[in-house]
Amino acid sequence: MKEYRVSVAGQWVDTSVGFNTIIDPATGNEVSRIPALTSGHVDTAVQAAQQALLDSSWATDARLRADVLLQWADRITENVDALAERLTLENGKLLGEAKFEIGNQVNVIRFNAGLARTLAGHSHSFGPDVMGVVIREPMGVVAVISPWNWPISLLVRDMAPALAAGNAVLSKPASQTAGISVEILQLLVNCDNLPEGIVSMLTGSGSSVGQVIVEHPGIDMIAFTGDGTTGKRISRDAASTVKKVALELGGKSPFVLCADADMDKAISTLARFIFTTTCGQICTAPSRLLVEASVKDEVCSRLSRKIAGLKPGPGLDPESQMGAITTREQYEKILAYIETGKKTATLVAGGNPVEGVDHSKCNFVAPAIFTDVEPDSPLVQEEIFGPVLTVQSFKTDEEAIRLANDTPFGLASGVFTQTLDRAWSLSRGIKAGTVWVNNYNRFYAETEVGGYKESGVGRMAGFEGLHEFTQTKHINFDSTV
Ligand code: NAD
Repeated sequence: MKEYRVSVAGQWVDTSVGFNTIIDPATGNEVSRIPALTSGHVDTAVQAAQQALLDSSWATDARLRADVLLQWADRITENVDALAERLTLENGKLLGEAKFEIGNQVNVIRFNAGLARTLAGHSHSFGPDVMGVVIREPMGVVAVISPWNWPISLLVRDMAPALAAGNAVLSKPASQTAGISVEILQLLVNCDNLPEGIVSMLTGSGSSVGQVIVEHPGIDMIAFTGDGTTGKRISRDAASTVKKVALELGGKSPFVLCADADMDKAISTLARFIFTTTCGQICTAPSRLLVEASVKDEVCSRLSRKIAGLKPGPGLDPESQMGAITTREQYEKILAYIETGKKTATLVAGGNPVEGVDHSKCNFVAPAIFTDVEPDSPLVQEEIFGPVLTVQSFKTDEEAIRLANDTPFGLASGVFTQTLDRAWSLSRGIKAGTVWVNNYNRFYAETEVGGYKESGVGRMAGFEGLHEFTQTKHINFDSTV
């Protein structure tokens, strides 16, 4: 069991203020204790951040910001193995995935370090004596509120561009994975030349610390990643102080599988991202298979064979093929959806309790595949966030597009076909922020992510991700007499 300290306005705060505990979802053992901060800590962090922006050159010196970010990336590189182990202990994911998650942040941070030095505006001549200059300035004090499923990716995805753009950043990580988040942030606050107060860690529950952040008049922007219901509430509550809000919310992503696709690749890709990667607890999980009717039976039987031998187990055990569901609440929610599916649809495969584990404290769930689902079923319309796949069939591409768009979400999607025209028209027809053609779940520092419809507002990553954390100012010079 590890006790953490967090840095608030440059001062270390320990668990004597009260703490939350983190439970390893694979064993039920307590693994971390994290300070549970109060509204007073939020005030202190906000004041320090505002002062640091006034006293330091952080907001105006892009080279300083790039240097700090590059140092942060180097420190993560030196510690990937230990950080990955802690991520697995708190989140339940397989160690290999945890290593990938931590290691990949080095690339994201370095990209943003480079981008920091490219921030530019534009100028306009309005006559011999009048000139307009448009510059990009940071938002000011930004709060980054992040979830537990890919806790480090999603924290860094927003913090790196927010810092690169010259903001002070208050990080509010998910309570369930706060220990690993604090370890990553400790590597940042210890970087040489990061002005004191530019980064603070605000650990605590969403309903206490999170809510105080959202309503705080000294915070200029919230970058939130999490559940849609929470996102809508944050949007409403932030309106009272007219804060900018960027929301990255849930999904119910369609995976459109045409009869002419490379079936081996399509089936292994689908199974990987709905069943094994983070046990389907991914916002972009391909949770709805839309398959061309002529190959539906073949695809269902191949998928069934794929999941038959899958072995859930502790993420640190190299024999495990799926990890644990991160929280007890999420575990129970997934089981409830599986029960609903058994009553209202046809269970094609899986869906039984995992054998040989203590279900009172270990969160292991076996995959489940359902067909004959009604389009308005909760299994099709709601984000389950677990290893549960629904199968619907289509006869024409128009029907595939209609089914793909028939949920409130629009985060991501996949299209598998070897026909270029079909790939293009399906990609254009689907309302989603990302369409992967003949692959899935590929994220790059260079390419934007974000949601259509109820999956979000704004874009993270890439160039737009940096601009999201800036505001423009027009300075007009007039020398006419
Ligand atoms: P959540 O909404 O419960 O929590 C997310 C964060 O918000 C946590 O840090 C939590 O403490 C905080 N929070 C909760 N209530 C708050 C409040 N009232 N005010 C301020 N902060 C509050 O989400 P979760 O269960 O941690 O994460 C799973 C969800 O995140 C899923 O819906 C998933 O699809 C979504 N997600 C989206 C993306 C994306 O990029 N679009 C990525 C990953 C996860």
